[in-house]
Amino acid sequence: MASQLKITPLEKWLPVSAQPLVIAGPCSAENERQVMETAVGLAEIPQVRVFRSGIWKPRTRPGSFEGVGAKGLKWLQKVKAETGLLTTVEVANPRHVEEAIDHGIDILWIGARSVVNPFSVQEIGEAIAGHDIPVMVKNPLNPDLKTWLGAIERLNSLGLEKIIAVHRGFSFFNHTPYRNAPMWEIPIELKSLCPDLPILVDPSHICGNRERLLPTIQKALDLEMNGMMIETHINPAAALTDKNQQITPEQLAKILSEIILRRETGNLEFSNKLEELRSEIDKLDEELIEILARRMNVVEEIGHFKKVNKITILQLKRWNKLLRDRVEAGIKLGLSREFIMSLLQSVHEEGIQRQIEVMNRPDSD
Ligand code: PEP
Ligand code: MN
Repeated sequence: MASQLKITPLEKWLPVSAQPLVIAGPCSAENERQVMETAVGLAEIPQVRVFRSGIWKPRTRPGSFEGVGAKGLKWLQKVKAETGLLTTVEVANPRHVEEAIDHGIDILWIGARSVVNPFSVQEIGEAIAGHDIPVMVKNPLNPDLKTWLGAIERLNSLGLEKIIAVHRGFSFFNHTPYRNAPMWEIPIELKSLCPDLPILVDPSHICGNRERLLPTIQKALDLEMNGMMIETHINPAAALTDKNQQITPEQLAKILSEIILRRETGNLEFSNKLEELRSEIDKLDEELIEILARRMNVVEEIGHFKKVNKITILQLKRWNKLLRDRVEAGIKLGLSREFIMSLLQSVHEEGIQRQIEVMNRPDSD
């Protein structure tokens, strides 16, 4: 599924003076005062470069607050003029795109509910095409890498190259401590398919509460994500949307002071040592694979021998004893019982499969 995206490097269009890149602001713009006070608080934090705010709010059920609409765009213009922060809003249709661009919004984002629908993505993408405006693409609600990647590819094929992916977690039927399960393997896979694509974490929508924000951000940064989009409100308790997950600008500053920025690579001595250890691992893996292949050859030989002597494949007594002995030996060498058991189990399954093949093979002699 390798992808051939053409992406403009983030630092070319959104250089930052303090790491990591932070996009912050309320879930929703509610009134001019709330927007301005939040923005003034955020502008004091060096890492905050962009002010976010929902203007048109996609709500699960109608009847609740659905955003202030286009009049909020004027407040964002004021934020930009008075604080120097760049601004970003969610767009869900071509009209939103036009209005946001008319009001000088700097970056647009496509929300999780729109990304699931390729028709919407196409329409929004066509409205953006021709304007040199960057776009952030949240992951779809459902844990499906192809839909996320597909939306990004669709925008890219319309000529948009300033793209950021935003990881906001996935709706998941199993109960998890998160509002949206992070399923980190999905953004990791996206990064490995598209190494040039910047990815931000949205810890607010992943967590759904304030308590887990710090470890979630730390994990994302340790996975080499480029920064975050985080919901911030001057008075979270009074927020009209997502009140449980919003934090004040002061709380954001505190979280940012607590995160640890680890480097991708260290100094030369570190890199050399790492390289040495990695080549040792490569060599050991090579040996391990060779040993497994040799073991399977012996297993096949036993299969052949059993076939000639009309003996059954699975000999439970022998298997149980082998398992006991190996687990004991493994534990002595510091391996965990679970690990050695699951390893042997899968080696055993493959061995049985190989013997079945031997049994079914027509005799050549
Ligand atoms: C938001 O960022 O306010 C939002 C609605 O997010 P999502 O599309 O990820 O649910
Ligand atoms: Mn929200």
